[in-house]
Amino acid sequence: MKDTKTLFQHGTLALLVPGLFDGTIKMDDFMKHGDTGIGTGEGLDGELIVVDGTPYQIDGSGNVNELDSSFTLPFGNLHFADYKPFKQLSDLDFAKFPETILSAGGLENVFFSVKLHGTFKTMKTRSVYKQSKPYPTLAQCASKQHVFDGEDKSGTVIAYYAPQLFNGAAVGGFHSHFLADDHSQGGHILDFTGFTGDVELQVFDNLDQSLPTNNAEFKNHDFSKDDIEAAIKESE
Ligand SMILES: [Zn+2]
Repeated sequence: MKDTKTLFQHGTLALLVPGLFDGTIKMDDFMKHGDTGIGTGEGLDGELIVVDGTPYQIDGSGNVNELDSSFTLPFGNLHFADYKPFKQLSDLDFAKFPETILSAGGLENVFFSVKLHGTFKTMKTRSVYKQSKPYPTLAQCASKQHVFDGEDKSGTVIAYYAPQLFNGAAVGGFHSHFLADDHSQGGHILDFTGFTGDVELQVFDNLDQSLPTNNAEFKNHDFSKDDIEAAIKESE
């Protein structure tokens, strides 16, 4: 039976901060843990979104590519979808998205995923070209990001919420990626306006945290020197 109560995470957001972008899990191993998710590729090679069991990359040029099993990731979240209907919304803006979800109560301190499907009046996403070694820091990559602006897009948002306590391991709060139904746009969401459609929610009991114990650079890195909180705030 599929475990729908567990959120799988490979790597931590904190390891991206100093630029530990080595791919430390192969897509076929990652995909054993779910059918729905988000992530990034080796070298921060685009923004990833997994929808209905298919992993997609939105690359630095904004193209949507289906990923094969040998693609590697430094960081990703994945779970087996078992979303429950939450709300039907009209004209929701990204700025109001967190409070709209959290107003249900009892969600602040748990891990959950939100799935939106419907239409968006505007959608602003970003992605990054693959970086090469020596890798820049996450903050340096943020200044190189490519921003894509869409209008009247129909599509899916996969978002994960992590309690503030876990900021660093994950993004404390919401971390949201988008894929247009016609694959004309996708990426890490910076903003959207005018969402009308269905909102579904899935709460997790467990976090399955996998660390890249085969990666010497990660194992020997001194994280005490990284200002993780500030870097996450700036780039996520
Ligand atoms: Zn992202």
